[in-house]
Amino acid sequence: MKVPLLDLRPTLEELRDEIVDAVTKVVDSTRYIMGPEIDGLEKEISVYCGTKDAVGVSSGTDALLLALMVLDVGPGDLVLTSNFSFFATAGVVARLNATPVFVDIDPDSFNIDPESLRKTLTEMDAETRKRVKAIIPVHLYGQCADMAAILAISKEFEIPVIEDGAQAIGAECEIDGKKRSAGSLGDFGCFSFFPSKNLGCLGDGGIVTINNTEWADLLRLKRVHGGERKYYHRVIGGNFRLDPIQATVVRVKLPHLNNWHLQRQNNADHYNKLFAEAALGGKIRIPFVEHSQTLQNPHIYNQYVIRAERRDELQSFLAENEIASEVYYPLPFHLQECFLHLGGKEGDFPVSEVAANEVLALPVYPGMTVEMRETVVEHIVQFYQS
Ligand SMILES: *Cc1c(COP(=O)(O)O)cnc(C)c1O
Repeated sequence: MKVPLLDLRPTLEELRDEIVDAVTKVVDSTRYIMGPEIDGLEKEISVYCGTKDAVGVSSGTDALLLALMVLDVGPGDLVLTSNFSFFATAGVVARLNATPVFVDIDPDSFNIDPESLRKTLTEMDAETRKRVKAIIPVHLYGQCADMAAILAISKEFEIPVIEDGAQAIGAECEIDGKKRSAGSLGDFGCFSFFPSKNLGCLGDGGIVTINNTEWADLLRLKRVHGGERKYYHRVIGGNFRLDPIQATVVRVKLPHLNNWHLQRQNNADHYNKLFAEAALGGKIRIPFVEHSQTLQNPHIYNQYVIRAERRDELQSFLAENEIASEVYYPLPFHLQECFLHLGGKEGDFPVSEVAANEVLALPVYPGMTVEMRETVVEHIVQFYQS
């Protein structure tokens, strides 16, 4: 049986007519830039994430870039971030001619390790520490980073937090006994509507969630070349607008998002059960989930990522049997060619280096069948028994 890593058809089929109708409406309106679809989506996402406001943008990458631009991050500045994420998280920092400072991850959650974050800051001299303009924790694979600890550090050192929630829209965590959503915890919440995310559009799109009204205004200003009035520019911005066609698609999908999260969670539970029954010992490790008792969405499983012994051999074996899987991510930031000039070398960030050699994402998308998951696990068992 062929098992793809991701198939968008099952969720598309649920809503295809509604999506086509909504897109047709935008086409017929002849309003193709900004307008009511953007305003509507911004309201709905801010309600969904529990923030005062949200600002639609052109992609998840641009959401991060714009947040950094609002904080006026530039040459000479430092931004602390996880060493183990999709490239955009660190790329946006470098694009503004600032320097990313990498921090190792927690071995269970794969998210930035607050202890290492604190250590990085305390080991800086006062002058260097003054140059740190932001911390970007990533909610990797769909689970929130340890935001209670990160927010305490942010407060102590007075450094703003930009959440990279691209993989985690709707993920929840508990802070001071209260349920909170990704994107409502830091100063900015950055999300992506790339088609492979849990809430995807028909191309590129993204949004920034925000509570601070001054920064929300600046986000809106910089989204359109920094001009409130056409052709008069107060600050430098860019073209970071979200298309109304994409916004209307996201609006059709949003009411179904929690149901899709639930399907992914059920798929993950099923994998966990099958792996427990298979009793592979230490050969693989299922995803670790924090807060699993109290929250509805402690993990939204944008990816279901196991750790596997002889990972590359396992992945090849699965591929030979038409089962797709993926390595997110094979090389931590400090070893990426474009960052080697920062002086990173092997051994600097041991936890992310080991993770890069062990992680493997298995298909977990809504609409995949029971038989598919059984096939995946059967083949993994077969691999380790041969
Ligand atoms: C997808 C992703 C992004 C970038 O989003 P785009 O919409 O593709 O630009 C940023 N960070 C993480 C962690 C992502 O997974």
